[in-house]
Amino acid sequence: MTGVFVQLNTASHMAKTRPVGYMIAENGCWLWTGCTEHNGYGQWRAHGEKWAHRAAYRLLKGPIPDGLTLDHLCRNPGCVNPHHLEPVTHRENVLRGEGFCARKARQTHCIRSHPFDAENTYIDKRGCRQCRACIRAKNRRRAKNRRRAYSPEKRAAQYTKGKARATR
Ligand SMILES: [Zn+2]
Ligand SMILES: [Zn+2]
Repeated sequence: MTGVFVQLNTASHMAKTRPVGYMIAENGCWLWTGCTEHNGYGQWRAHGEKWAHRAAYRLLKGPIPDGLTLDHLCRNPGCVNPHHLEPVTHRENVLRGEGFCARKARQTHCIRSHPFDAENTYIDKRGCRQCRACIRAKNRRRAKNRRRAYSPEKRAAQYTKGKARATR
């Protein structure tokens, strides 16, 4: 990566021995150059925080309101540019993200084009929306399969067929 390195811990006693900071990317993101976690977030224990983007936000912009998480508007977890960060509630952050429920929450129709309106929407245990019309159709299919599986004539036919094969 080419670009300018900007040091953030200039006031720290480790400023000379362990400089930490970011590189400015072409798209405007400030990419953390220190340690990053497996989730992509930079680690920086400073300013009462353990994540680089939160610490950088506090240092450069100011306090983060209690209980709020910082949403990466640029969708780049390694970015510490405070202009790319917006304090939001945890739920809002999850809904904006790329998770399964988040993508589902943004859809206006299910995969079979039933509308996700008040009448047709069911919220499951995980907090995901489910389509009632699809659930009904699935249950109908299941019931039909069950009936077929327990049809006595069919079972009898299968039994004699099996017996015939065994004695042959
Ligand atoms: Zn960014
Ligand atoms: Zn549906």
